[in-house]
Amino acid sequence: MKAFTYERAKSVAEAVKKVASNPDAKFIAGGTNILDLMKIEIETPTHLVDINQLGLDQIEPTADGGLRIGALVTNTDLAADDRVRRDYGLLSRAIVAGASGQLRNKATTAGNLLQRTRCPYFYDTNQPCNKRSPGSGCSAIGGVTRQHAIIGSSESCIATHPSDMAIALRVFDASVETVKPDGRARSIPIADFHKLPGNTPDVETAIERGEFITAVVLPPPIEGKHIYRKVRDRRSYAFALISVGAVIQPDGTGRVALGGVAHKPWRIERADEELKNGAAATTAVLLADARPTEHNEFKIELVKRTLGAVISEARG
Ligand SMILES: Cc1cc2nc3c(=O)[nH]c(=O)nc-3n(C[C@H](O)[C@H](O)[C@H](O)COP(=O)(O)OP(=O)(O)OC[C@H]3O[C@@H](n4cnc5c(N)ncnc54)[C@H](O)[C@@H]3O)c2cc1C
Ligand code: SF4
Repeated sequence: MKAFTYERAKSVAEAVKKVASNPDAKFIAGGTNILDLMKIEIETPTHLVDINQLGLDQIEPTADGGLRIGALVTNTDLAADDRVRRDYGLLSRAIVAGASGQLRNKATTAGNLLQRTRCPYFYDTNQPCNKRSPGSGCSAIGGVTRQHAIIGSSESCIATHPSDMAIALRVFDASVETVKPDGRARSIPIADFHKLPGNTPDVETAIERGEFITAVVLPPPIEGKHIYRKVRDRRSYAFALISVGAVIQPDGTGRVALGGVAHKPWRIERADEELKNGAAATTAVLLADARPTEHNEFKIELVKRTLGAVISEARG
């Protein structure tokens, strides 16, 4: 690990200023992703700004009946919150499907959204990787790709986004509140927050360097059965091969998003309209442009069957 200096920020403005003014500085929240990346020198900040004492650890109701989740609310506290369990059950279930209890105790809402891919070639610093080292090539293409994306990928990168929580946020159409380096606040719809890889897989989200996430805002709750199904090679403590997050009403209509298939939570609003027609019809719309590899074409059938199970569960 490269040597680095460390300080605790006392205000959001101070944290933003410290990181925005130093290209080698980064925020640290729970540290469960950034420290791992620093240990293997994929991330090499020379200065860490700890944001844990900024008081952004509250979940508050919004005027329109939604919830504002502070950036530093831990995954454990968010999943266990009575209002979240009652009104946003999908979010609670998606979070507890991820990582382990100990990790969720430290992991934060903002850090979870910004966690980096689990593509094994990204972690192997002996291999070319456009995300880690732009322009070096993609070792996954032509390599072992069981875990990789089947849709939305590019000639530069076929990695997936690993967050379970983000799949639920996409179903709810949450938004991410930030403070930009110039001090201005903005709100980014979750649909636009994570990017597809295109020619710049190193650019993973809409936020700028030094931009600080203050909160995630949930719109008012959606009625219906909230279901999250994650399929993985191991029953726990593993990332999704694919996952399905859905809210389904008694008449069969609803909303659905997929994890483990793309560089971002995968939702196509038009597919929601097919939910009442069943899993095959919905999958056909969601994955119409799928371009799987020989190692991961099974994911298309896996999505269809998992969605079938989700729809059956919703119908009781
Ligand atoms: C073994 C293991 C298994 C895991 N399994 C799963 C899983 O199954 N599903 C899943 O979804 N996740 C899983 N995770 C990932 C885990 O959920 C993330 O590591 C965690 O959510 C990151 O949150 P953090 O607060 O620790 O982020 P940090 O590591 O502190 O930060 C991550 C990044 O976010 C930036 N950042 C943090 N807060 C802010 C902010 N407020 N504004 C701007 N930038 C910020 C940091 O600078 C850094 O770049 C796993 C992790 C491990 C280690
Ligand atoms: S898929 Fe993306 S993260 Fe994986 S090796 Fe290729 S460029 Fe790197």
